[in-house]
Amino acid sequence: MNLKELYQEIILDHGKNPRNLRKTDNFNKDAKGHNPLCGDKVHIYLKLNENKKVEDISFEGQGCAISMASASIMTSLVKGKEEKEVKEIINDFLEMIKEKESLNTKLLEEDEKIKLMCLSGVKQYPMRVKCATLSWHTLISAIDKSQNEINIESKEF
Ligand code: ZN
Repeated sequence: MNLKELYQEIILDHGKNPRNLRKTDNFNKDAKGHNPLCGDKVHIYLKLNENKKVEDISFEGQGCAISMASASIMTSLVKGKEEKEVKEIINDFLEMIKEKESLNTKLLEEDEKIKLMCLSGVKQYPMRVKCATLSWHTLISAIDKSQNEINIESKEF
């Protein structure tokens, strides 16, 4: 199996069987995101404990395989991380999707990075980039409580 096939397989797996697709009990942060270009919608629920560590993260939503796979992979990778670590991972991912060849963060294991690199194939398709980054921008919004509902159309990436 070549890399491209491996990437497609991981996306299909997460797209068909999204992890953490539920609503977190007693969440203390949440935000909604909408990608009108494709019709993707996500609602991210976050439970941060007193040490600002992600005790639980989940999402509800519907959309294309890329958007669902991205939310599924994101939620499984940031669980257990501290808020500032989550932000570092988000920035690293968004920069990779935008321009970088690879991920720089030391907060993720190599096999975890592979899961994120699966989404790098969208770089060639600006419409798909919005599908892949929707849940990530929504997570930033949930953490910062900057906006209750974001519209990805207005985001550069
Ligand atoms: Zn989409």
